[in-house]
Amino acid sequence: MASIFSRIVAGEIPSWKVAEDADFYAFLDINPLAEGHTLVIPKKEVDYIFDLDPETYAGLWQFAARVAAAVRAAVPCKRVGVAVLGMEVPHAHIHLVPLQTEGDMDFRKEKKQLTPERFAQIASAIADAFNKQ
Ligand code: AMP
Repeated sequence: MASIFSRIVAGEIPSWKVAEDADFYAFLDINPLAEGHTLVIPKKEVDYIFDLDPETYAGLWQFAARVAAAVRAAVPCKRVGVAVLGMEVPHAHIHLVPLQTEGDMDFRKEKKQLTPERFAQIASAIADAFNKQ
């Protein structure tokens, strides 16, 4: 069965998309640690990031760097933190989290509650910054 993230890429499940190319897709995390918390995935479905073929692995990080620059341009933050967990969704993904303090990267803390309108605003701002690169 396709992962929830493959179903997002296929358009079967909605997402707040911020960037896409032929091989990679980036969208807002629905349970964000901070406004602008973004997930970057390969369209190819592989559970564990270190099982990706070398080309996809390198491409994923290159794409994530471009998305992180767009997040940083669109969301006020000191820098963008990076994490790879994969404890919940078995489809390789990189978390990009706008940081003010190191505590913002604590995945155990309560997640932000945002309205659909706010998610849409943030996604649009990041997408605009990405498309200006
Ligand atoms: P982990 O697999 O531990 O890296 O966590 C998976 C992340 O995916 C969590 O932060 C979830 O909030 C996020 N997530 C799960 N389903 C969706 C979805 N449909 N859209 C956006 N983010 C999601």
